[in-house]
Amino acid sequence: MSGDNPAIHILPAPLPTAWPEPTVGAVALLAAGSTIAQAAVVTTPSPWRAVQPMLTARPARQLIIASNHRSALDRAAQDLSGPPTLVGIGGGLAMDAAKYIAKVNRQKLIQLPGSAANNACFTRTAWVMDGETRTAERNCPIPDAVLVVPELIAAAPDRLNRAGFAEILCSHTALFDWSLGHEAGHDVQWDEGLRGLARAQLAALDTLAPGVAAGELSAFLEIVTISARFAPGFASHPKARFNAGSEHIFAWALEAASGGTVLHGEAVGLGTVLMALLQDNDPARAAQLARSAGLPLRPEAMGASWAMVEGLAPALAARAAASDWYTVLNALGERLESAFVDAMPRLRALIEDTEARTEPALAAPISAGSGSDANARGPAPFCS
Ligand SMILES: [Zn+2]
Repeated sequence: MSGDNPAIHILPAPLPTAWPEPTVGAVALLAAGSTIAQAAVVTTPSPWRAVQPMLTARPARQLIIASNHRSALDRAAQDLSGPPTLVGIGGGLAMDAAKYIAKVNRQKLIQLPGSAANNACFTRTAWVMDGETRTAERNCPIPDAVLVVPELIAAAPDRLNRAGFAEILCSHTALFDWSLGHEAGHDVQWDEGLRGLARAQLAALDTLAPGVAAGELSAFLEIVTISARFAPGFASHPKARFNAGSEHIFAWALEAASGGTVLHGEAVGLGTVLMALLQDNDPARAAQLARSAGLPLRPEAMGASWAMVEGLAPALAARAAASDWYTVLNALGERLESAFVDAMPRLRALIEDTEARTEPALAAPISAGSGSDANARGPAPFCS
């Protein structure tokens, strides 16, 4: 069974060129048992605890990953080389590590998302730290399979799964940014079909939101399904901003300012409302959708503070200048910092108004239980 024995090595099949449909169901995982026995697994503690009882065989190799620094990932790639298949189990950190390692080792990739909190399993970019710099490792392999195991998603804290709602909501501001780039004459791979796809997913959020707020597993699985619909577009149109734009630049700035304690999806949700304000793009709808899905909107409810948010203008300007994306942050140019300061009281008022009008969020604090350590922490998913 050892992956070290060259006599039983299975040569990797040619890497897939089209995105697989996500396979939903525990049966799929059990059927993968024979694959697991010949695979190396990279994971984090909580998802690994949750998935172990479901496996029909032990993996040939297994590694708990704790860092996305390049040196750690290169060491992991060495440790996990040999088996023809690399399986990632968990959240953004595990998914990105799996992508990176499979690329380095030229292994077949299988991903098991540990929650609905992010869509890292549906992109070809792994985020890697080179010292203090966050680097995009692009063109990672397209997975051979994405296995969505309802029991694993259900084992993650509701708040974590709920945060995945923002990864769809963010198209509200991303589509606007994409259009700005297109109109300004930038090469943004404008595509009416992709735009229509993203708009259709946005339109379905009114129906999805109550189930997400109530913590229904079917709603969390629908988040994963919608994320999967975007996967081919991420691969074919890397410059198209149909599902990540200025709200993600804000979210990454807030995550950095908080020292990584803010959940990525919750920062994206707040970023969508704030950027919709700067875009003059129906911010009330963005706020109402986030609220009705149970996402927290107040910075203090997500482990940040108003002072932290209000202090982000210089960081946003720097990130916008350094990014190859064209968003409202670029369109505002030198007016960005003053527009940001002007938007703050309007953002507070909008959140207060939305909270007064819409049902209270059902979000509970993240428990120390399964899934909380790694399903959304670590490197934020790239989302494009
Ligand atoms: Zn994201």
